[in-house]
Amino acid sequence: MVQRLAVLTAARLVRVAGDAQSSGGRPASVFAFNEGAGLVVVGDLGQTGCHLAVCDLGARPLAEHTAPLQIEQGPEVVISWAKARFAELLAELGRGWQDVLGVGIGLPGPVDFDTGRPVSPPAMPAWDGVDVPAMFADVTDRPVLVDNDARIMALGEHRTARRGDRHMIFVKLGSGIGAGLISYGEVLRGERGAAGDIGHIVVDPEASEVCRCGNVGCLDAVAGGWAIARRLGDLAPTPPDVVRLARDGQPEAMAEVRRSGRLVGAAVANAVNLLNPTSVVIGGKLAEADEQVFAAVREAIYRHATPVASRHLEIALTELWHMAGVIGAAHMVIDHVLEPERVGALVERRLRAA
Ligand SMILES: [Zn+2]
Repeated sequence: MVQRLAVLTAARLVRVAGDAQSSGGRPASVFAFNEGAGLVVVGDLGQTGCHLAVCDLGARPLAEHTAPLQIEQGPEVVISWAKARFAELLAELGRGWQDVLGVGIGLPGPVDFDTGRPVSPPAMPAWDGVDVPAMFADVTDRPVLVDNDARIMALGEHRTARRGDRHMIFVKLGSGIGAGLISYGEVLRGERGAAGDIGHIVVDPEASEVCRCGNVGCLDAVAGGWAIARRLGDLAPTPPDVVRLARDGQPEAMAEVRRSGRLVGAAVANAVNLLNPTSVVIGGKLAEADEQVFAAVREAIYRHATPVASRHLEIALTELWHMAGVIGAAHMVIDHVLEPERVGALVERRLRAA
């Protein structure tokens, strides 16, 4: 143990945090994980906006950048742009890619986590099957992990605000509607990375609105930000316009986002019956736009879920808001690089470099 600590300390992964109270003899040292031992760079890429950050190993953002983004411009444009912004954020901190232990990216669609490739994402067809990690090979040889955006938000929220919840559903109401599932404290991804894809649950098989996935009657096609923008037409041509108008109290936009809340709540009630979670957490830009959206979701869940599944269910607003994605992505990467079987290689690398 002492030897192991000495090695971890030499590699700067562990630091001496002070002296413990000792009952005599030599005072015992207290060791702590050195959260400054490296950096992770993370990006929460949405359909119409993104949030990039450089975090320490405690998942604390040290530098951030938010910007509008058109994810449908395709992976070449978007990832090249993100890499340039990451380099700027690192430079702001007086650091560089050599200090980065891993990269984490969230994307708005199903992602095969093992390969980091999006799988038939309806909102961003140009990304289908693209090897996103390989696109970072020119800047870093460290692990690049890619996951669905609602899933990283779920992880961020769970690790920060709801650690005690065994089972959690995080619902993101944004341009699209997605959900991240936590089961026994772990992220549930499903066989091909499509778990939690609540936006394509059919809520009205006789609806006339065609969804971006090609089906009719999907939740996304009647309640997503893009669907609201489609209905509002010139009044609010894009999802960010919908959010802005609802926030300003424009009556049609407010009515639309509250309707969206009711429809989402009814769909989430089905998921609650299926999974019997400890909690449901609501986040995303539409929820941020108008506090009545949360009330609408909450009421619909209680109305439609079975008493046994809803009696002890906690329904809450996100505590992290727009930070959930980057903090979750940071945890995803930190968990990976600090897995016991990888720490040995990391220590060796650092001692060689020292
Ligand atoms: Zn659909």
